[in-house]
Amino acid sequence: MAGRDKRRCAAALGCDKQRLRRRQDAAALLLRRIKGLVRWVVKEVAAGRSPSIVLHRYRNYCSAADAASPSPCACSYDAPVGTDVLSLLHKDCHTSRLNVLLRVLLVVQQLLQQNKHCSKRDIYYMYPSIFVEVAVVDRAINDICILFKCSRHNLNVVPVVKGLVMGWIRFVEGEKKVYCITSVNAAFSIPVSIEAIKDVVSVAHYILVVEKETVFQRLANDKFCERNRCIVITGRGYPDIPTRRFLRHLVEQLHLPAYCLVDSDPYGFDILATYKFGSLQLAYDANLLRVPDIRWLGVFTSDFEDFCLPDCCLLHLSPEDRRKAESILARCYLHKEAPEWRSELEAMLQKGVKFEIEALSASSISFLSDKYIPQKIKQGRHL
Ligand SMILES: [Zn+2]
Repeated sequence: MAGRDKRRCAAALGCDKQRLRRRQDAAALLLRRIKGLVRWVVKEVAAGRSPSIVLHRYRNYCSAADAASPSPCACSYDAPVGTDVLSLLHKDCHTSRLNVLLRVLLVVQQLLQQNKHCSKRDIYYMYPSIFVEVAVVDRAINDICILFKCSRHNLNVVPVVKGLVMGWIRFVEGEKKVYCITSVNAAFSIPVSIEAIKDVVSVAHYILVVEKETVFQRLANDKFCERNRCIVITGRGYPDIPTRRFLRHLVEQLHLPAYCLVDSDPYGFDILATYKFGSLQLAYDANLLRVPDIRWLGVFTSDFEDFCLPDCCLLHLSPEDRRKAESILARCYLHKEAPEWRSELEAMLQKGVKFEIEALSASSISFLSDKYIPQKIKQGRHL
């Protein structure tokens, strides 16, 4: 190995060690704080007092009622908008919330002590009669993140990954080499932990995010990545945390534009909005999970006429679709940050029609990869 390569290797190893040490220090600090809180709660209860915990409330968006008011709403990607007080002994609706929080916290404490990982479903099955449903555990995990100002991965609670990636990229995940670049039309699983990713190298010109796995497979079959220097990602519907963190990580590391392709219906739009603005459930972490500069590539209501799609692909919006579209239109972030996205959604509602990405394949199976995507990107036809 040449001297310069040796030095570069040593520097990279040094960086890895530093990162690992920082993570270990952060985990140790979190563990100390958790133990401190649990000890305090036990002491309070033993003394016959009712321990209460103040929890910040986060909200990254609200609905039109607030947005229409003369003063701007308080929604924020990083600052709390209010507080909840959870008390253990005062009988009210927050009692069981705190009870669940403490039980989940004990599991998290064990995970951190033993350096082990588990899923929220694993936690649920430890006390199913108390937790009743997985959503209750989910909320407790969010509460713990808010309480200790951390993210889910810091608690060693890991999701089951569902996102896929393919294209002109390679990286190392822990000890495993993920060399998508050697087989650009093959699907690879998105890593569960961004912290395990290093040595990201790419020669791609852009990142394309597609809503559905069927579209991802269509592009793979058409050898889209072989013909276009890009990285394609799918969250297979509403994206999970690893998919959103991975996309965010790539955009930041590689400085590439990201385009998103979703169905022309309110659910497609909601998925698109989740990538750009984050979800309400994870509002406390929205700033770390969202990709503010993601561009909406399509499909737009107007694409139906622009690309002369057959009428048989067009469906009328159902009453539920209409309700969903109206509730999304009311979100304050669209007013504040993406009025052009809002206008496009309004056009969908006015026309009262929807269609899926697959409609673009109606006349020619590979139209999406041969014409639609390359043309739209080349001509800058995105919002
Ligand atoms: Zn708001």
